[in-house]
Amino acid sequence: MEYFFTCPYCWQEISVVLDTSVKNQTYVEDCEVCCRPIEVRYSIANDEVAEFEASVLE
Ligand SMILES: [Zn+2]
Repeated sequence: MEYFFTCPYCWQEISVVLDTSVKNQTYVEDCEVCCRPIEVRYSIANDEVAEFEASVLE
């Protein structure tokens, strides 16, 4: 599923495609606007996003 969130660096709204077959996931995604690495964390419940966090990669 496609999910929209705000980049923690440039504050642009960007989208990622989440794999809802995986319940908990953490990975690094480069922002499509500023190309900086964002740490994405999410959890899925009932095929919907239960929690989502996009943070600055340290
Ligand atoms: Zn960005």
